[in-house]
Amino acid sequence: MTREIRPYWQNFIDGNWVDGADGSRITVSDPATGEPIAEVARALPADVDKAVAAARRCFESRTLKDMRPNHRGDLMLEVADQLEHLADEIATLECFDNGKTLAAGRAEVALTQRYLRYYGGMADKLEGRQIPLGDGLLDYTLHVPYGVSAQIVPWNGPLPVGARSVACAIVTGNTVVLKSPEDSPLSLFLFAEACERAGVPSGAVNIICGYGHDAGAALAAHDDVDHIVFTGSVETGKSILRSAAERIIPCIMELGGKSGGIVHADADLDRTAASAVRGIFHHSGQICSAGSRLIVHRSIHDELMDKIAGLATKRSVGPGIDGCDMGPLISARQLEKVESLCRAGVEEGATLLLGGSRVPGLPGHFMSPTIFTGVRPDMRIAQEEFFGPVLVVLPFDSPEEAIAIANGTDYGLAAGVYTRDLRLAHWTADRLVAGQVYVNEWWAGGVETPFGGMKRSGYGREKGQEALLGYVQTKNVGIRL
Ligand code: NAD
Repeated sequence: MTREIRPYWQNFIDGNWVDGADGSRITVSDPATGEPIAEVARALPADVDKAVAAARRCFESRTLKDMRPNHRGDLMLEVADQLEHLADEIATLECFDNGKTLAAGRAEVALTQRYLRYYGGMADKLEGRQIPLGDGLLDYTLHVPYGVSAQIVPWNGPLPVGARSVACAIVTGNTVVLKSPEDSPLSLFLFAEACERAGVPSGAVNIICGYGHDAGAALAAHDDVDHIVFTGSVETGKSILRSAAERIIPCIMELGGKSGGIVHADADLDRTAASAVRGIFHHSGQICSAGSRLIVHRSIHDELMDKIAGLATKRSVGPGIDGCDMGPLISARQLEKVESLCRAGVEEGATLLLGGSRVPGLPGHFMSPTIFTGVRPDMRIAQEEFFGPVLVVLPFDSPEEAIAIANGTDYGLAAGVYTRDLRLAHWTADRLVAGQVYVNEWWAGGVETPFGGMKRSGYGREKGQEALLGYVQTKNVGIRL
């Protein structure tokens, strides 16, 4: 496949493609080589002001709010269709911009289209209630949009993560300013292009790229923003929440995870091994809901680990564009963070079964598939998020102990259970403190199923029907007839 990447990308504000306020640019590099591949216009706080002003004007014009809901839905269906024309370009781009494999890049486009069609189709199904109050009174509720929704997106899956929030916002009548991640900003500009081609009204969707500490912080703290959707790390989430608290505006917080899967003694070990390997090594572990801890009944521990190690060693590591199973981590900084936490694991006395360091002989930011066994719940590697291809394995003897280990971190994003016993599966799922529980298959679920965190993994839900409720507020109308 030829590598054709547009050399320069502008921000999309008020339906126009524009440079940053001072003309400066951010260089985007290929994580597989470390080489620059493109530049994007760098948005500064002044550009954030322009984007928010455009979104505000569009919102106050009532263009979206007064539109019949199914027509707002049609806009998202059209964006999905327009993405089809850009699908090859996006999939290739995701290999160079993000380190994804080509197959993963293609799957992300398809997933994005699914989100747009799912929420496009739901635009006319969000209904209020009529509340009986007796003779002479009529009372009903309306779901009204907040106004300008600020959306801040991480680098690991910017296109589907950004598009699903945009779709929810637009079909409910909000307008959007989205800040794409500085490490992998490009696919969201093609999403902006699809919005433009689809005839989304000017100012309804504005997409800018800037650094978190200036453009991101300015967007989160902007006086004219009414609603924030943030997907990213816990630390950044806290700082955004502090800004939002000043203005008492609602936030949806999709933060990190340290998700554990419990493997009971009766589990199907071949299927469990395949699911666990995919759960941690897909996109090199750079997924918030990766299955990064495996909590294994002692009686089957060694047999299962043989199977998992066998599958993990078969995974090829290299540039995604070459069809390898596992691409690079996003940056040198991320690789160093993952390696350093691995060193801490060895120092704390965990057993390094596989990997543990970068792949020698490759120029980019490639991390070997890594597995630690003999991990104790109090070790740093059992508590901290790697956001890389590192599985930590903890043994247990009783179901109660397994639950205590699984729930014993600050996070509560996802959890899993592997067993043939449906009663045990339900017993376990009921006790796991996590926004979603996967039984016998990591990532069982989809676009239709609500997704979000408990504890420090955040609050609010994306995906599924629940997500739409995060983009509207209830207004009650009581009428004395
Ligand atoms: P990050 O918090 O560093 O950055 C996320 C986004 O926030 C980027 O666009 C960045 O520019 C911006 N940002 C940084 N500082 C900011 C500030 N002070 N104010 C406003 N914006 C700021 O996270 P990351 O390293 O890009 O992503 C990895 C993290 O995201 C992991 O913890 C991962 O678990 C989490 N994540 C969660 C989900 C989910 O759905 N729960 C999905 C993907 C990633």
